Amino acid sequence: MSVVASTLVVRYGRHEALAGIDLTMPRGRLTALLGPNGAGKTTFVECIVGLRTPTEGRIEVLGRAPDDPALRTRVGVMLQDGGLPLAAPAGQVLAHVAAMHARPRDRGELVERLGLGALLRRPVRRLSGGERQRLALATALVGRPQVLLLDEPTAGLDPQARVAVRDLVRELRDEGTTILLTTHRTEEAAELADQVVVLDAGRVRAAGSPAELVGQDRGLRILLDRDPGAYREELEHLLRVPVVASSRLLEVRGAPSPALLHKVTGWARDNDVRILELAAGHRSLEDVVLALTGRELR
Ligand code: ATP
Repeated sequence: MSVVASTLVVRYGRHEALAGIDLTMPRGRLTALLGPNGAGKTTFVECIVGLRTPTEGRIEVLGRAPDDPALRTRVGVMLQDGGLPLAAPAGQVLAHVAAMHARPRDRGELVERLGLGALLRRPVRRLSGGERQRLALATALVGRPQVLLLDEPTAGLDPQARVAVRDLVRELRDEGTTILLTTHRTEEAAELADQVVVLDAGRVRAAGSPAELVGQDRGLRILLDRDPGAYREELEHLLRVPVVASSRLLEVRGAPSPALLHKVTGWARDNDVRILELAAGHRSLEDVVLALTGRELR
């Protein structure tokens, strides 16, 4: 394991940002940390890089304490607020970070991949938010870290840059880098992650591969012309699987077999209920996260 956190608690005064997290990041795998604003994602990343000392619990990175100087060249980090020096030109910042490493990545290639070519002489303070982010990513990668921590690397990027960043992250994952990616984009997590951890209010709500998380939640999602709440118990009895009713949405948590569909549509006919939309099969990761946290991610 590259990162092991056990019953990690971080308190800010009386507020518990992390409320006892157990989380492991397997070597060479990409872990996506999903969760709504304030879930504790950044706090967790800060604990891994030793910027935040946990109030309770333990965390180990490559078998060492996070503030161990031996980790400095082995862990790459891109934090949300960048932490880049503002006065220096972008190219100099990247060259400086590269010089700290024994076997840096080819800077020219990174510059090209991340579209930094025209920006190298520009002081960091004159870069746009998205440009700064791409530079921060380049500095996190240039030293070929074994563990790479990316706190919302695609937030605020234009679609083209987002694709470039995702491609790069995918390549690094395939090369065997252990990556932690925090994101609000469930489609990004579904596409890139080996392991998804859903965090909410400082607690792990679910963890597993994207397929495991969505696989637990297959069924029917049916939009009706009325609130199905009054029918829920009757439907559960009829269908013999759990049924969740909210507003005009009916969720039937069972394998969507022809027999189940037949019973549902028969019930709608008998009760003169109109089905406005019906989706059968696996739910998206977004639906799963939403059901777990009860909130939109963005
Ligand atoms: P976002 O998606 O908005 O970036 P997040 O999941 O990264 O959110 P954190 O930044 O880890 O969340 O914050 C977790 C909680 O801890 C939030 O409620 C935040 O307000 C609080 N918090 C973070 N830093 C501090 C601090 N220095 N002092 C007090 N509270 C803090």
